[in-house]
Amino acid sequence: MKNVPKKNTGQSSEGPNFTTASTIVIGAGVIGLVTACRLQQQGHQVLLLDPNGVGAGCSFGNAGHLATEQVFPLADAALLPKLPGFLLDPLGPLAIRPRYLWRALPFFFQFLRQMASQPRKLNTAALTSLLSDAIPAWQRLANAADCQDLLRYQGSLLVFEQSRLSEVEQIAALYRHQGIALDIMTHTELLQHYPGLSPSIRYAIYFKEVGHTLSPSLLNERLYQWFLALGGQFSQQKVLDIHQRQSQLQLTLASKTIRASRVVLCTGAYSKQLLQPLGYKLPLEAERGYHLMTNPVTMPQIPIASFDRKMIMTPMQHGLRLAGTVEFAGLTAKDNWQRAKLLRLHGEALWPELAARSSQVGPEACWSGLRPTLADSLPVIGQSHLAGLWLHFGHQHLGLTLAAVSTELLLQQMNGDAAALQKAVPFRADRF
Ligand SMILES: Cc1cc2nc3c(=O)[nH]c(=O)nc-3n(C[C@H](O)[C@H](O)[C@H](O)COP(=O)(O)OP(=O)(O)OC[C@H]3O[C@@H](n4cnc5c(N)ncnc54)[C@H](O)[C@@H]3O)c2cc1C
Repeated sequence: MKNVPKKNTGQSSEGPNFTTASTIVIGAGVIGLVTACRLQQQGHQVLLLDPNGVGAGCSFGNAGHLATEQVFPLADAALLPKLPGFLLDPLGPLAIRPRYLWRALPFFFQFLRQMASQPRKLNTAALTSLLSDAIPAWQRLANAADCQDLLRYQGSLLVFEQSRLSEVEQIAALYRHQGIALDIMTHTELLQHYPGLSPSIRYAIYFKEVGHTLSPSLLNERLYQWFLALGGQFSQQKVLDIHQRQSQLQLTLASKTIRASRVVLCTGAYSKQLLQPLGYKLPLEAERGYHLMTNPVTMPQIPIASFDRKMIMTPMQHGLRLAGTVEFAGLTAKDNWQRAKLLRLHGEALWPELAARSSQVGPEACWSGLRPTLADSLPVIGQSHLAGLWLHFGHQHLGLTLAAVSTELLLQQMNGDAAALQKAVPFRADRF
């Protein structure tokens, strides 16, 4: 691999509707952006494609939490007794739109299988192997891209309102068993350190080696500026299909066809659309989540997640972001903004100062995004069965957290690193 980007004229002898490119990255969310940056930095000439612009998908409004403690897969048998409630309560922490249920059945079938103890153990180990290097990988990336100022590594809290100390200790022991550094904090200690927290909070787990960004969208913007400075190119276009043509990959866009020798698919929750025609049947679903921006006078310094309310508050450059909830409704259903507005009630219960501020919520404060989630909670990172087509998607609730480390693993595989190929076995697309 050369260190200097190759120049590509993009012209083809086959007419004006054909162009060629050396390397194409499809999808400019945080996963595609980091992939494009790192490939360009390694000497490839990269063309990044996305019809919605850069960083406009799920990567725009997430909670900004570098959540390296989240080593447990989402498929957990403890969810089972709660399933009927999920179907009946459209404003609960996890909702399934009844009309969408039958379409998501193949996903839920696989999801149930992943709850068994053996797959859960293996999935936890695979996720832990990625998460354990996620913060150092972000530090390497942020140094290279000069965006350290947007990242903080001060830990985060998981707060408990209902649980007894023995229950909190049990949960803490599970995390410790996976090597997660933490302290349990009592009510008195919490109020000393975080006086703005509600007195209703009885205990918290303080995760020590966790970080957050002051703005996911600004981080994307800075990565994009770095990509352009390295000589990368962006085009606001949708890829309609991918197929193999002789030794190259051919991508159909609305107005032309592009051929490339190397393509990386980073289309998040939309990845099934391009992969189904290639024969992949992946249990990938969009987990819709919401955020609501608020502006209290004082903010916590670190992200605070609630065990009981299944949501998080993250201090950001432009206010306190309340984020969370999971809704299965597919890619195109209308948003249910009541779910975003409900976050305010949870925020007020945890950070009472929010209740003293205006409860008026403008539409501009609300946002929704589609988390790309596979049934086993593991991303796909590796080669497809088409020569030259690489897959990089499915980072569920952890796309921001994993973007840097997951890209390193992908690029090591692209460079033929045997250890990386071995490490990436759990993330192969043909595992289902
Ligand atoms: C409420 C909420 C809170 C979250 N909080 C956190 C958090 O605190 N920490 C964390 O790590 N993660 C968090 N996440 C998850 C994280 O945001 C996602 O995992 C991550 O954004 C996924 O990135 P992505 O690049 O794969 O997908 P996206 O950002 O969705 O990007 C995919 C891109 O592909 C493009 N695309 C789709 N189809 C095509 C096509 N045919 N041709 C070209 N382009 C195409 C889309 O336009 C889109 O821009 C949160 C998510 C939500 C919803």
